[in-house]
Amino acid sequence: MINLIRGFKDILPDEVALWQHIETTAIDLFQSFGYHEIRLPIMEKTELFARSIGEDTDIVEKEMYTFPDRKGDLLTLRPEATASVVRSYIQHKMYAVDPARKFYLIGPMFRRERPQKGRYRQFYQIDVEAFGIASPYVDVQMIFMLHTLLDRLGVKETRAHINTLGDPECRPAYREALLGFLNGVQAQLCADCKRRKDRNPLRVLDCKVPTCRAAVAEAPSLMDYLCDTCRVHFDTVCRTLDELEVPYIHDKRMVRGLDYYTRTTFELQTDALGAQSAVAGGGRYDGLVEALGGPPTPGIGFAIGFDRLVEVVAQGRTAAPQPLDLFIAALGERAQHHAFGWLSALGRDGVSVEMDYAGRSLKSQMKRADRLSAAHVLIVGDAELDKGAAVLRNMSTKEQSEIALDNLPETLRQQLS
Ligand code: AMP
Repeated sequence: MINLIRGFKDILPDEVALWQHIETTAIDLFQSFGYHEIRLPIMEKTELFARSIGEDTDIVEKEMYTFPDRKGDLLTLRPEATASVVRSYIQHKMYAVDPARKFYLIGPMFRRERPQKGRYRQFYQIDVEAFGIASPYVDVQMIFMLHTLLDRLGVKETRAHINTLGDPECRPAYREALLGFLNGVQAQLCADCKRRKDRNPLRVLDCKVPTCRAAVAEAPSLMDYLCDTCRVHFDTVCRTLDELEVPYIHDKRMVRGLDYYTRTTFELQTDALGAQSAVAGGGRYDGLVEALGGPPTPGIGFAIGFDRLVEVVAQGRTAAPQPLDLFIAALGERAQHHAFGWLSALGRDGVSVEMDYAGRSLKSQMKRADRLSAAHVLIVGDAELDKGAAVLRNMSTKEQSEIALDNLPETLRQQLS
């Protein structure tokens, strides 16, 4: 027997209803705020991710599924969506008429992480990106949409963690100060942080290793280095979130893993997931479009971990069976033949309908109708065909009535709707 690959998973029909519910709730909300769906390939040139996410990030250093195609070009299964959306925005010159464009994308991402609960190698993200809007209001809109989505999905225990990472004007001075501090405590840092601190000292603040956390407890704070524009931007974000009554925590240690972030970063965390507490994360990336060859264009986005969101929403819910309007219990070959014609006509007209194809007994067909949660069962055998009328049973009231076979699909469609 051949099993699926470690770290991958199947999403079975019983679970899919919840995925669809979350997806339609999200799409509904994003469309209200003017975001449009974009669908992009799951594979891109490796260089796209290396240049945007950053060479010394965990993702690029060790987690990408990268392979040479037959001509030797290096290709990568996308580990996240932002780089691809930026690539597409630039390639199709979407900035030309109006640089302000807003997108959402839903699909699988691939990272070769250590598989564990809540962490998969193929996982799904609901991704939202906005280009061409420098205003802090769009930062607020992102956090507001996330907050509203979780609220609509009935998830209560969530917190937005927000922070600012400054911009190319103020971050370099902070970086220097932080590096100076880290050099003083380097004996206490883990091997990864020792190696990374010179190229990307901010990442050390985000390290989960307890000795690193202790070592950076007294590290200088970026808040003391912010330039005026970044400070005003962040203050506006905080004030507007207050006005919209979105609860948040200013989490000064949250730097997020990727290189391209500037100014506002945010995560939505919940206690419902144990260690993997972030359901969604994102931030502003004002330099990325230009870095990838487009015109200077501000950008901001977030990704929801779809798998994790499903887990959170599923807690305390029982899977609702997919409703079935009608089960046709056909007895004998002749009845089966008619039943198949009715089933085809009803299904075409939008009635959900199933029948038995194996010629089972009435008792076992009724059992199956029950298992499928059919609202009604139509019972028809040779006697009913000869008589020109079948029996329709309402499965919740147990009432049975006779129904003429002439024009049956039409009569049923009216009765069942
Ligand atoms: P990131 O792109 O790393 O900011 O991740 C955004 C969100 O995607 C996270 O908050 C998680 O909810 C989810 N996520 C990231 N990596 C994985 C993974 N390996 N398995 C499941 N969900 C993930």
